[in-house]
Amino acid sequence: MAAASPMPLAELHLHIEGTLEPELIFALAERNGIELPYANLDELRSRYEFTDLQSFLDLYYANMAVLRTEQDFADMTRAYLARAAAAGVRHAEIMMDPQAHLSRGVSLETCVNGVASVLATSEEEFGVSTLLIAAFLRDLSEDSALEVLEGLLAMNAPIAGIGLDSAEVGNPPSKFTRLFARAGEAGLRKIAHAGEEGPPSYIVEALDVLAVERIDHGIRCMEDPELVERLVNDRVPLTVCPLSNVRLRAVDMLAAHPLPAMLAAGLNVSVNSDDPAYFGGYVDSNFAQLESVLGLSEFDRVRLAANSIRSSFASEERKQELLAELSG
Ligand SMILES: [Zn+2]
Repeated sequence: MAAASPMPLAELHLHIEGTLEPELIFALAERNGIELPYANLDELRSRYEFTDLQSFLDLYYANMAVLRTEQDFADMTRAYLARAAAAGVRHAEIMMDPQAHLSRGVSLETCVNGVASVLATSEEEFGVSTLLIAAFLRDLSEDSALEVLEGLLAMNAPIAGIGLDSAEVGNPPSKFTRLFARAGEAGLRKIAHAGEEGPPSYIVEALDVLAVERIDHGIRCMEDPELVERLVNDRVPLTVCPLSNVRLRAVDMLAAHPLPAMLAAGLNVSVNSDDPAYFGGYVDSNFAQLESVLGLSEFDRVRLAANSIRSSFASEERKQELLAELSG
């Protein structure tokens, strides 16, 4: 058995803008003649000590300034796929935030085509099948999101679904009822971040009001036993991001992460990297730290990988192919 080959899995919770590594930020800044507010890589890296979600978002949006052209978006996407493939990712559902680029004067065509041009051949080139998901910033208005969604539909953007991300508290899922109804009409899949910093009731709202098929994060469901029972019974996928939760202080430390309790409760959880360039590692690092800190067993590792594949929006044929690879 080839010990070096990583466990095959699907990554379901990944923001492409969160894969922008410090080295690439400097390279793109130079290519585009953009002056960065950091003298060097070390100074940039020193900003990665976050106190909460907002302190991360401030740096995250500031660094996006280096993404100007289709080539920039393509280079970032290519770098992620190469790194993800090495981590065992065989299928990835990749979120991008069009509003974060439109607000900087970068067109929908530039950001969507830049990412999509690489995703179109990702399976041949990297062995990673991919889907693109347009995520909307929940701290902006629903009208803004609707306008962007119409723009994406009008340009026939190759998106499989929509998501909801950014600052959660104070921006409940119900704020986006019309957006998700419109996405449903257009035949798009629906997911939303809920229960990361926000309360368990946001998870209930995302399911009941937005009719999402998957919850991103969802860790705070553990505060509501009735909700846990519902999520278990309905096999609702929760895309958990352990290193992200520690970095953003959603949990105090990895040793206190609810993942073991979530697995024990029978929840349909998977492990994902969220914004790996910012949170200390890709999906393989998340697994490695779960093993060393929480003593995650081989049985649970395989179960988490199988959950990720089954919870994906890949074709049934692709799922069977990956599950066979996992059990082989
Ligand atoms: Zn996320």
